[in-house]
Amino acid sequence: MRMKQIYPRIYAEETVYSIASRLVLNDVSSSISQSMLNVFDNKNIQLDSILPSFINRLSLVSGCSHGELLDKHSLFQYYTLFSTESVRAQARALLLKENSLDAFKALGLLANRISCHDVHQFCPLCAKEQEEQLGEAYWLRAHQLPLSNTCYRHHCRLVSIPKQRKRLVFPSVGYEPSFAISTLEHKLASFNYAFSQAHHFDPARLRQAYAVRLINQGLATTRFVRHSLWREQMRVYFDEYMSHDAVFKLLQNDAEYAFPASIFYNDEANHHPLKHLLICTFLFEHVDDFIDAYTQKEPLKVVHAEPITPQSEIDALRQSTALMLLKQGLPLRQIIQVADVSAATVRNIARKHSISLKKQERKVSDSIRRGITIQLIIGRHVADIANKFNLKKGDVEQVLSGQPIIKELRRRIRFYRHRQQARRALIATLYTLKTPTITLLRRSADKEYVWLFKRDKPWLNSFKKFYFKSG
Ligand SMILES: [Zn+2]
Repeated sequence: MRMKQIYPRIYAEETVYSIASRLVLNDVSSSISQSMLNVFDNKNIQLDSILPSFINRLSLVSGCSHGELLDKHSLFQYYTLFSTESVRAQARALLLKENSLDAFKALGLLANRISCHDVHQFCPLCAKEQEEQLGEAYWLRAHQLPLSNTCYRHHCRLVSIPKQRKRLVFPSVGYEPSFAISTLEHKLASFNYAFSQAHHFDPARLRQAYAVRLINQGLATTRFVRHSLWREQMRVYFDEYMSHDAVFKLLQNDAEYAFPASIFYNDEANHHPLKHLLICTFLFEHVDDFIDAYTQKEPLKVVHAEPITPQSEIDALRQSTALMLLKQGLPLRQIIQVADVSAATVRNIARKHSISLKKQERKVSDSIRRGITIQLIIGRHVADIANKFNLKKGDVEQVLSGQPIIKELRRRIRFYRHRQQARRALIATLYTLKTPTITLLRRSADKEYVWLFKRDKPWLNSFKKFYFKSG
C-alpha cells in the first residue's frame, strides 16, 4: 500500500467520482487496473456509483473526512433528503462499512425500481471556466441530479457522457452551449438544485404542505385525495418527460403503481427523491412558493370537505344545459354535441317543456313536397312514391308525418279499395262454381269472405240473401 505524500486537489462541489478518477489517473501506471490497485487497493470498485462504498479508502488517500466526502461530494444528501433521521443514520453507517447495497435498501431506493443515472453530465460554460481558472475541468455534484439537464448557474443544456467502467472520463472543453430549454426543464432543474442544497425535509411536515396545496387546488378534500384526477393532471403536465424511463414508470397507466397518492402512505417508507421532485414541480409555482408552503405559510383555503360532484348532479347540469339550448332554438344535432346528451334525452326534454325541435334543413323542396302530398292523398303506396321521386321511403314518410287528415284519407282510400276488391272476388267466385253453396264460396274465397264478414257485414248479408234465398 502506497500513501500519497501530498494530498490531491479537491474542488468545491466536485463529485467523489471526479476526485477518485483524478487520483487514479495521476498515478502513473501501466494500466488503470494497476492504478486502481495502487490507489484503492482494489481494482474492482465502481467509482461512478451514486452512493459510493469506497468513502473510507478515499478519505484515507485524499485527506478529506468521511463526512465531508459524503455530504459535500456525493449525492448522499440528495438521496436522504426525504428520509427520517434514523434511516439517514443507518444508511450512513452502512456506506462507511462499504455496504452500499444495503444502504440503497435502507433508503428504499431499490424498492422504488427507478434506475440510476447512467451518464455523467457537465455544463460547457462551467467546464470552460474551470479550465481557464484551474487548468482542468471536473464533475460537479449538482449537475448529476436525476431529471436535471440544465445548468443551475448558466441555464444552458448539460452535456451527457455515458458512464464507462473501463475508462475514467472528464468533461471536455469546447462544446457550444445550447439554451433551448423548455419552461418545465427549467423548473425541474431549479427544484432539483434547491433539493441538492437543502439540509433535509421533515416527511410529516412535507406531506402536510402537499395536502394543503392539493386541497387548495381541488385535487383533494380534507378527507381524501382525488388520486386519479391528480395522476391524470400530472401525466398531462409531464407529457414531454414521458419518454424518460423513470417518469414513465411512475406515471404510466398501470394500476400497480399508486404514485402520486402513494406519497401519503406508510410513514416509514422512503420515497425516491424523484417522486418528490415531480410532485413539487407539479404542485408549486417555483421553489420559493414551495418553501413558503413547507414552512406552513400557506393557509388552507377550503375548510369544509367538498364531496365529489355526484353523477346525478352532472346529469342534471347536462339536462338544464340541453333545455337552455332548446329554448335558444339550436338544432338537435348541435344540442347533442354541446350538452353531451343523447338524442332521446333532448326529445324528452323538448316534449316535457312543449318545445318543438327545430327541423333540420329540408332535403325535399317545397314543390316536390306538394307533388308527394298529392300522390299521398290519392292513396299511392309510399314505396311507389319514393321510387317516382327518386327518394327514400323515410323522406316520403317525413312529408306524411304531422298531416293527420291525409293519413285518415289514405286509411279510407285503402279501406274502400280493399272492400271493392273483396266484394268483386266474392261475386267472381260465385260465377266459377257449378252448384254454388255458401260453404263452397267460403272455402274458395276464404280471405275475402272473412274480411267482408268483419268489416262489411251488412253487404255480405244482403249478398247472401240475394243469391241463396233458398239456403
Ligand atoms: Zn454552468
